[in-house]
Amino acid sequence: MKYFFLAFIVFLISPSIHAQQQNAMSIHLEMGIPLDDNASNDYLIIRPQYALSYNQQLNVANWISWNLHRGWYGSVPRYSGNFIADTSLPAEFYKVKHSDYTNSGYDRGHMVRSEERTATDEDNRSTFLLTNIMPQTPTLNQQTWLSLELECERMCKNDNKELFVIAGGVFGPNPKRLNTVVSVPDSCWKIIVILDSGQRLKDITPSTRVIAVMMKNGTYTSGTTDWKQYTTTVDAIEQSTGYDFLSDVPKQIQSIIEAKNYVSVQETLYPIVLQVFPNPARQLLTLSLEGMHTEGVIVAIVDMMGKVLEKSFTESSIGVDGQLKIHHDISHLPIGAYSIVITSTNNSIAVPFLKND
Ligand code: MN
Ligand code: MN
Repeated sequence: MKYFFLAFIVFLISPSIHAQQQNAMSIHLEMGIPLDDNASNDYLIIRPQYALSYNQQLNVANWISWNLHRGWYGSVPRYSGNFIADTSLPAEFYKVKHSDYTNSGYDRGHMVRSEERTATDEDNRSTFLLTNIMPQTPTLNQQTWLSLELECERMCKNDNKELFVIAGGVFGPNPKRLNTVVSVPDSCWKIIVILDSGQRLKDITPSTRVIAVMMKNGTYTSGTTDWKQYTTTVDAIEQSTGYDFLSDVPKQIQSIIEAKNYVSVQETLYPIVLQVFPNPARQLLTLSLEGMHTEGVIVAIVDMMGKVLEKSFTESSIGVDGQLKIHHDISHLPIGAYSIVITSTNNSIAVPFLKND
């Protein structure tokens, strides 16, 4: 009885431990465990290399989630055997075989890319388990999907970023099946939370950049193979899949970063400038925004702990002079230091300001 009680206390306090440190179950579930409204076909597998939710009706994963930084990239040779049936699945589940894909016209598409697990032979072999694989058309796998995998590699190796990645498919009610078993997704999606090396859940703010893409599992021709053409929002992927992603991110920050459509091309073409004056301010802030080409923006005030205090939508669009002026009343705020965060469908920018008396 005493032990039961102790276990119950540990259960009660553990969510707050998760929120402040890293997810106790796995680094790969740092952003939370994506759940939908039907848990009966969500079989959770946690490996040292990644975590996934397996669907025994579709015979593919619902989602695969993994941490990625430069330390995961190494120099071991690519595993050279056939793809591997996952024998860790329960006895009653069908185990997809290498030959289920043979001559299907579809590639065995890695979710966790082989190159992303090349520090040890064992890491690399784990990516060839067929629970990490989804049917992808050759041009999706080898070109469009690859273009984003290469961008992830670039961010890790060149920019020393630490990424939290989730990927999966969207399936119709009666999907096409390879060898009558493996379901073929209509589209494949990927969500990438971009942090700096060593950063964790607690470091996420409304300005954290997130890439979300949705790519049709179809044929791509030259000129249509750049991932930037397929960006969307996490909100849209949640709608298509029924899963709640990034669920351990505080709700108010989650709603901001899940509504962003990140297009890095726009950032390079139009640098965004946000000026806030006067600063310090007592009653009214004037925000002058340049370079954010959009119809309407979300204005949020965030405290020094990253907590979103208020959020409002303004429909004013950027004028012919390329400038948007917004007046924002801060007279009700306590004296202190804050950030103002402006978010559009494509972008986000934050500037600190002081409220004085
Ligand atoms: Mn691939
Ligand atoms: Mn979510």
